[in-house]
Amino acid sequence: MREETKCLHAGYTPKNGEPRVLPIYQSTTYKYDSTDHVGQLFDLAVDGHMYSRISNPTVAAVEEKIAALEGGVGALCTTSGMSATLLAILNICSAGDSFISTSTIYGGTVNLFAVTLKRLGIECVFVDAEASEEEIQKAFRPNTRLVFGETIANPAIAVLDIEKFARIAHQNGVPLIVDNTFATPILCRPFEFGADIVVHSTSKYLEGHAVQIGGAIVDSGNFVWTQEKFPELATPDESYHGVVYTRDFGKAAYVTKARVQLMRDFGAYPSAQAAWLLNLGIETLAVRMERHCANADKVARFFAASDKVEAVHYPSLENDIYHERAKKYLPKGASGVISVDIKGGRDNAVIFMDSLKLATNEVHVADIRTCVLHPASATHRQLNDEQLKAAGIHPGMIRFSVGIENVDDIIEDVAQALAQIKDE
Ligand SMILES: *Cc1c(COP(=O)(O)O)cnc(C)c1O
Repeated sequence: MREETKCLHAGYTPKNGEPRVLPIYQSTTYKYDSTDHVGQLFDLAVDGHMYSRISNPTVAAVEEKIAALEGGVGALCTTSGMSATLLAILNICSAGDSFISTSTIYGGTVNLFAVTLKRLGIECVFVDAEASEEEIQKAFRPNTRLVFGETIANPAIAVLDIEKFARIAHQNGVPLIVDNTFATPILCRPFEFGADIVVHSTSKYLEGHAVQIGGAIVDSGNFVWTQEKFPELATPDESYHGVVYTRDFGKAAYVTKARVQLMRDFGAYPSAQAAWLLNLGIETLAVRMERHCANADKVARFFAASDKVEAVHYPSLENDIYHERAKKYLPKGASGVISVDIKGGRDNAVIFMDSLKLATNEVHVADIRTCVLHPASATHRQLNDEQLKAAGIHPGMIRFSVGIENVDDIIEDVAQALAQIKDE
C-alpha cells in the first residue's frame, strides 16, 4: 500500500460480516480461558491484551497504522506528545546519563529536557543544529545515550539535516530520535534518512481537527542495541522473569520495552475513544497535508511581498535558508506552518494579530483551521526583547498556521490585517 492508502486501510482489516469502521473497544479488561494463560501473558510468553493501561485493540489498530505510515516495526501511542518524548528518552536513559539535543526544538520539550529531566539526574547537552560534525562530536561523553532533533522545528521552521545527525549518532553507538510532528509521515519519513526512533505529537496534523491530545513513539527496528551500551534492553529484566528484550523481541525490542515496562509503570496510555478520534483524523491526513502545503506556499509568498513584513521563514520559498535541504527531506511540501517577522516588532505584530478575522488567536498549531500565535506575547512572554533575540525569536515574529480553508479567504484576511499597521 502507498501512504494515502495506508491512511485509510492500515491497522484494521475487517473479516466477513465485521464492522467496516474500526470499533471502539470500550473495555479496560480482557477475559481468559485459563489461569495458565494469564501467567503466560505476565511472562510475555504469549501475545495478547492484558489490561488497557498497556494495550487495547482500538489503540493497537492505530499504532499499527502509524507504524506502517512511518515504515517502522511497531508503535506505542501515548496520552500526549510530551509523554511520547518523555517515555522515548526514559526507555534508554537513567539517572547519571546524558543525551544531546538540537537547541531549535519545541518550547515544551526544552522545559522537559532542561529542567524536569535534569531533576531526575538526566542531563541534556544542547547543540546548534547547524554546527559542524566536529563541533557536535565534542558534545559526546561516555554516558551519552541518544541524539534528539525535530524534522521541522517549532517555531523556528528550521529543517533538520537528519542524515548528518544520524551519522554522528551512529558513529558514537547511539540512536537518533526525531520528532516528526510537523512533517508527518506524509511529507517526511525520517527512518529513510537514518533516524532510529520517531516521536509524534498526534495533537497536531495527525489527528488534525484540534479535538484530541495524543502522542506516539515509532521504532524503526534498525538500531542494534549492544549489551555494553544498552544493558536495559540487552540483559534480563527482573520485572518480567528475566525477559531479554533484544533476544525475545528482536527488531521490536525498544518499542516492546517502552510498552510493557514504562507504560506499565507510568500509565500514560490513551483511551480507546481517544485513539478512535486519532484514527478518524489520520484517515484524511494525506489529502489534508497536500492542501496545507499548497495553501501555505501561497500565503508565504503573499507575506513575502508585503512591505509590512521583515522576513518570512518557510522552506518552500526559494530564498529560505532551508530551501535546498527541504528539497531532499520535504519534496512534497513544508507543512502549513509559516513564521513571519512583522516590521516594527511586538506592537505591530499585536495590531496584525488582533485585526485578523478568519485566522484565530490560539495556543495551537498545525490545525485544520488557520490559527496564529505571537510567541513574544504568549509562550515566550517572560523574555524581554534581548532574551528573545538570544532564543532566536524576533519580537514581531508570528507563527502562522495555515489551514485548509479556501486560500483566497486566508489571503484576504491577511491583507486587511496587514493594512491596519500604520505606514512609518
Ligand atoms: C505540540 C508539540 C509537542 C507536544 O505535544 P503535546 O501533544 O501538546 O503534548 C511536541 N513536539 C512538537 C514539535 C509539538 O509541536
